[in-house]
Amino acid sequence: MNLTQLIEQQAYYQGYTYAYPHKTSYRSFSPISLADIWANEDKSQLFLYAHIPFCNMRCGFCNLFTTANPKQPLTIAYLEAFARQAKAAHQALGEKANFTRFALGGGTPTYLNAKELSFLFDALTCFNLDYQTIPSSVETSPETISEDRLQILKDHCIKRVSMGVQSFHKKEIRSVGRGQHNAEVFQSIEKIKAFNFAIFNLDLIYGLAHQTPESWEKSLKTALCFEPEEIFLYPLYVRPLTGIGKFGFNWDDERMKLYQQGRDTLLSYGYEQMSMRYFRKPIVNQLESGDYCCQQDGMIGLGCGARSYTQQVHYSSEYAVGRSGIKAILESYNARTEDDFSQITYGFKMDEDTQKRRFILQSILHMTGLSPLLYQQRFKSNPFTDYPELKALIDLQLINLVNGVWTLTPKGLSLSDLIGPWFYAPDIEHRMNEYSLI
Ligand code: SF4
Repeated sequence: MNLTQLIEQQAYYQGYTYAYPHKTSYRSFSPISLADIWANEDKSQLFLYAHIPFCNMRCGFCNLFTTANPKQPLTIAYLEAFARQAKAAHQALGEKANFTRFALGGGTPTYLNAKELSFLFDALTCFNLDYQTIPSSVETSPETISEDRLQILKDHCIKRVSMGVQSFHKKEIRSVGRGQHNAEVFQSIEKIKAFNFAIFNLDLIYGLAHQTPESWEKSLKTALCFEPEEIFLYPLYVRPLTGIGKFGFNWDDERMKLYQQGRDTLLSYGYEQMSMRYFRKPIVNQLESGDYCCQQDGMIGLGCGARSYTQQVHYSSEYAVGRSGIKAILESYNARTEDDFSQITYGFKMDEDTQKRRFILQSILHMTGLSPLLYQQRFKSNPFTDYPELKALIDLQLINLVNGVWTLTPKGLSLSDLIGPWFYAPDIEHRMNEYSLI
């Protein structure tokens, strides 16, 4: 189906393109040594990502690789395996690897108690991160905030703390299986703010059951009371094997209207829109001084569920959404030795077409935009010659040329979740469709 037809059918929410190719296009392959994979890579500006696949509860909409309420023997075994993986990765990368960005995600990394968080940071010591200067970020949830955990984050100069709140409306929150109470959320936010992290982010969701324009406005205004430097607005997706995916959802799709309402509210409060989901105060631009470039630079992911990106291969552990699938993958991760971690057996070998499409998607879906000059430098060709279908974005006024860079128009921003999947290569789409999710 072409872009015009998709828009006419109002098929606005095809999928969130946060990475390309999607993990469901990864497959097993014969072992390749980690050292070989990284041997010819530029290691001067790497992103280190650590994944903690634990949460207090499993939210009904969530398809991230995480498990609810694991007990201590599992978390300890996980951290020990994580330390073995960190050693193997450090050995493969060598002493010259330089990290210009760090993130701790999940799941909910602050599900770990203070002692476990310290263990995690100790396991990362070998990478010599310059915590003072590099941008760094940690995901949290309201019920896992405590002063001792925040102190550890502060001791490591974490710049950005993000909290998924999703809504301040009780019925909406219960509809996705979350048990949080506003009083606890407010207390947690106050605790975070008392530590003066440079950037505080709140995540909200639109399209929830029971949500109305009035209740959405209330959630937005409540979030704004805390003056977060960043706000992410996520459209609700009902995905296979998630809580609301399994039990059904009475879908009354008002997402586009709620998106426009949320966007207009945040813009009127002085936020800049950086992508369909991401809004920030202008000051964040000065605080974010990192050199990492997501289209080009490598990422090393540690932990079960984390992805790693080199120019030639994207790799990770296997993926699941259902509880039993995640449990099996976690058990296998925890049993791995340092030698096991020095081999890669699952991922995607990046051909030229996938590299080009990734570059275009990572650029164009963010307000940094697509620079034909940078594309030319990297691929020795022009994106519109390689992919003539991109001209439809110009014809439909979804992108504009601003200072030599193609950026989304307001209409293009609102249709990001349609534009992304529309531009996936047919073979990637085929792999994603034939993947059987566990
Ligand atoms: S949305 Fe966040 S808190 Fe909820 S299950 Fe997913 S990772 Fe955990």
